[in-house]
Amino acid sequence: MEDCVFCSIIKGEIPTDILYQDGDFIVIKDINPMAKIHLLAIPKVHFPLLSMQTEEGVQVVSRIIHKISELAEQLGLKNGYRLMINQGEDAGQTVAHLHIHILGGENLDARWIN
Ligand code: AMP
Ligand code: ZN
Repeated sequence: MEDCVFCSIIKGEIPTDILYQDGDFIVIKDINPMAKIHLLAIPKVHFPLLSMQTEEGVQVVSRIIHKISELAEQLGLKNGYRLMINQGEDAGQTVAHLHIHILGGENLDARWIN
């Protein structure tokens, strides 16, 4: 997808430190962290919203969420973490390529982001 910052990162057009990747997704640090650890899990396939997913996309997101649980300790999240997906304008979604925020590294209490 043209003009998509996350597609550009996935294609290697924007140099970015990739903490983990497999066939489904990459994990990068959020450029504007809202917690001590703030990562983004970004599917390699571009789709803007959960409602626009194909059946394969649903499977990909399911696999990503499970994989995050396996990666938690190596990502520094052994005490827990919060997953968050912003959908659309009211949620403050700024990048129209589905992504999962991974927040942790400290006690988040009831903090919201955006
Ligand atoms: P959202 O508001 O859910 O669409 O989240 C988009 C997130 O992407 C924000 O938290 C941004 O800080 C983050 N972001 C935007 N561009 C980059 C980038 N080049 N590298 C890392 N994170 C980015
Ligand atoms: Zn994209």
